[in-house]
Amino acid sequence: MKVIFTKFLPARRLSAVNVFGIVLAPQDGKITATVLNHENIHTRQMKEMAYIFFYLWYFVEWLIRLFGRGSAYRRISFEREACLHEQDKSYLKRRKPYEWIRYL
Ligand SMILES: [Zn+2]
Repeated sequence: MKVIFTKFLPARRLSAVNVFGIVLAPQDGKITATVLNHENIHTRQMKEMAYIFFYLWYFVEWLIRLFGRGSAYRRISFEREACLHEQDKSYLKRRKPYEWIRYL
């Protein structure tokens, strides 16, 4: 996975952003194995959704979840799957296709 460190991302707000499988990280930030695994899970989800549908679904689900309780971002199915398995280094080896649907 390609990681680009940039001064255009605020380190205090986020640790990384995945753009079509390329990870953008704050210049003064740190990419841990957990963050990398989290982003790799998102890349797998993106490939399943032909990238563009991942972003469309992500945005629509975020909009819908704004009306619920708690953080809309944390309740997005893609994020729930990635957060739950980000510490499991072998997760992607045994993950079934479209696994994120289970987290809807
Ligand atoms: Zn994420």
